[in-house]
Amino acid sequence: MALRFYNTLTQKVEEFAPADGRTVRMYTCGPTVWNFVHIGNLRTFTFQDLLRRWLRAHGWALDHVMNLTDVDDRIIREAAAAGKSIYDYTGPYAEAFLADAATLRLERPERLVKATDHIPEMVEAIRKLAEKGFTYESEGSIYFSVAGFAEYGKLSHSDFDGMKAGARVDSDRYDKTDARDFALWKARKPGEHYWDSPLGAGRPGWHIECSVMSMKYLGETLDIHAGGVDLTFPHHENEIAQSEALTGKPFARFWLHSEHLMLGDEVMSKSLGNFYTLRDLMGMGYTPEAIRYLLASVPYRKQLNFTFDGLKAAATAIERLRNFELRLKNETFAEGRDERVAARGVESLAKFDQSLDDDLNTAEALAAVFEYIREANTAMDAGGFRAANRAQALELLARFDSVFDVLKPAVKAGAISDQEIEQLIAGRTAARQARDFKRADQIRAELAERGVILEDTRDGIRWKRK
Ligand code: AMP
Ligand code: ZN
Repeated sequence: MALRFYNTLTQKVEEFAPADGRTVRMYTCGPTVWNFVHIGNLRTFTFQDLLRRWLRAHGWALDHVMNLTDVDDRIIREAAAAGKSIYDYTGPYAEAFLADAATLRLERPERLVKATDHIPEMVEAIRKLAEKGFTYESEGSIYFSVAGFAEYGKLSHSDFDGMKAGARVDSDRYDKTDARDFALWKARKPGEHYWDSPLGAGRPGWHIECSVMSMKYLGETLDIHAGGVDLTFPHHENEIAQSEALTGKPFARFWLHSEHLMLGDEVMSKSLGNFYTLRDLMGMGYTPEAIRYLLASVPYRKQLNFTFDGLKAAATAIERLRNFELRLKNETFAEGRDERVAARGVESLAKFDQSLDDDLNTAEALAAVFEYIREANTAMDAGGFRAANRAQALELLARFDSVFDVLKPAVKAGAISDQEIEQLIAGRTAARQARDFKRADQIRAELAERGVILEDTRDGIRWKRK
């Protein structure tokens, strides 16, 4: 079966392929770099990373643009409060975001673009919208007239017919109850950052940033536009209005929205103050792999409730996967092939692929992997797993890890290298052969202290990091 996604625009599950059959042109709304991102934001970005990897598994190339919103209401407010320029204020948070993304093994999009690098293009787009009659001016600011775009509401499936014509909103973020004409260009206010432009001194609204940057790099019709559910309205609705008003063409073929990470009954959010950053959790000793696994384990269209038990369960799941990998790599199996295990392998691989093709059903994909591991472990214990079953098992793990990417432990700063571990183990083996057991024990203790556990098995010495 082909790859299918739920498309917010059509409210249907649809088969996906890039329009040109080769390259997926995708735009995702990146973070507003006004602070550190929290793991709720990172759930959305982890979903987008899985999406990237699975699109590539289909053989397509990617042209993925992610923006960094480095000017908006919150940034202007916080930078002014800190007495800094918006650049000095956002720079460190942009860096921190990239570092956190790398720690979580999120692939870098092909293009990472900053809003402040595209002001002339935004001014030009607003000028064109004005020329086409979609805008009006009020007190130096320029607004998009929603009444002029007949299809307004088609993404959020809302009927805004009763809306009061000419009512305006200046803030970047508002909800459906406050649907109104929105600001494209906001007149300069005292103490605020501004740009001089033919539109007057001011700054762009948040929504125009994304329309301009996506179409500049990806063309007038994107294959996929994605973001968290909270962006559906007004942000994405407004992006559609601006973009389609400009081009007269459909702006994006597929709209994918990921659900929220919750803490109890509430959405994890900066403004509510109920959040953890990646740094918070790592400071408590949780690994980036466990956090990534947890965020990836629930299908993206379901809410995920964050708990520490969930995080611990994620760490345990990774441990099971790694132990299985160790067994596969280190144990000696009898020659031949067990047909039952082989058949299970084929089934699990197919189920893994089918689950991800089904709107990225990660929970089902993980179940397929663990069903196989359970059976293979049982077969190994009973001597039923054979040497010729090994390659298939490794292939399943490799396929799993090409998407989930949690098998390799993160190397902590200052951690002992694999090479040094091997050298110490060789020294310990030599000491034992020379019957110098004291020295052998010393080496084992040194390794333990440095976080490496040794296991003497009938197939030799196995080691793993704690
Ligand atoms: P922002 O920096 O506020 O623009 O948010 C960056 C991304 O994180 C957007 O795609 C949001 O939809 C998403 N986001 C914000 N809060 C959460 C949450 N609690 N769970 C999942 N995604 C979120
Ligand atoms: Zn956006």
